[in-house]
Amino acid sequence: MATATLTIDLDALTANWRALDAQTACDTGAVVKANGYGLGADRVARTLMKAGVRRFFVAAAEEGAALRQAVGPDPEINVFSGHMAGDTDMISDMGLTPMLNSLDQILRHVEALPAHPFGIQLDTGMNRLGLEAPEWAAVAGMVLGRNPTLVMSHLACADEPEHPMNPRQLAVFHQMTDGIGVPRSLAATGGILLGSDYHFDLTRPGVGLYGGMPFVDAAPVAGLAIPVIQTRGVAAGETVGYGNSWIAERDSQIATIAAGYADGIFRAMGPEISVFAGEARCKVIGRISMDMIGVDITDLNESPAFVELLGPHQSVDSVARAAGTIGYEILTALGQRYARRYRGG
Ligand SMILES: *Cc1c(COP(=O)(O)O)cnc(C)c1O
Repeated sequence: MATATLTIDLDALTANWRALDAQTACDTGAVVKANGYGLGADRVARTLMKAGVRRFFVAAAEEGAALRQAVGPDPEINVFSGHMAGDTDMISDMGLTPMLNSLDQILRHVEALPAHPFGIQLDTGMNRLGLEAPEWAAVAGMVLGRNPTLVMSHLACADEPEHPMNPRQLAVFHQMTDGIGVPRSLAATGGILLGSDYHFDLTRPGVGLYGGMPFVDAAPVAGLAIPVIQTRGVAAGETVGYGNSWIAERDSQIATIAAGYADGIFRAMGPEISVFAGEARCKVIGRISMDMIGVDITDLNESPAFVELLGPHQSVDSVARAAGTIGYEILTALGQRYARRYRGG
């Protein structure tokens, strides 16, 4: 088989959710947008339900509709993009809870689905989604009279604990919501780690569940094993791959492995990244192609059947560093061509 295998450790996922839940005295939801950060929203969500999750978050109503099929009627499914034009039937039929983020959305929702649950998203300084303070002041009375399920906001700099933006947003959130008598939520993974002032009634971790920074103590969830298609000897002075960008300095053994940038292994990480054959680190050489990558296995005693890009030796965040990006982007770029294998759960 010439496709790589993405192994998703559902026990590690559960352990990460429990560890984040244990850091707070409040409820802990789970963010499963973008197909569970690339790992498969169905399996991820069903596993987290067993661990005790009752409130999920997705980005778009379409994601919520798919998730509803996977988790059944009971869990709450909250939609960050709120109630968009055209979403009404899906929100109603699939029992989704839109996090309304503008006056337009509030009007649309109460006109189209007056008795249907909703939450409210406030902007506390990130300037991405949510009502600003004057808008909120104008409609809070009417909105609160309709019993929103949740009032939430999002932190822009929570992965930098010392950033002054964190206490500033916290203060604005207090000003906008103290005394409203509705459950409140401010913290994603980074916010949980900022401490109890940020926890309110419900937290919304995403990346930490999947083993990514800023949750440094996370258990790794994703493993990626890539089969070797062919190996060959290359004499000193010969070149490998597109553009002749790698030249053998010594007689070398080169393995060609079956994954590439079409599978989310960004071309930009080529010069920095290695893979592992058992315990041995083997450098990626030459340019990363669409479906293939060259690896220097000269120092191994035998040709491996596969090599590991993600796993115990190399985390999502180490791979992200090599590509000049963040773990979130590595996870969500993981290709659809991988065979996905779930372990535990
Ligand atoms: C993506 C997202 C989250 C989850 O963030 P993580 O950093 O992955 O924990 C929470 N809330 C909102 C509004 C989001 O967009």
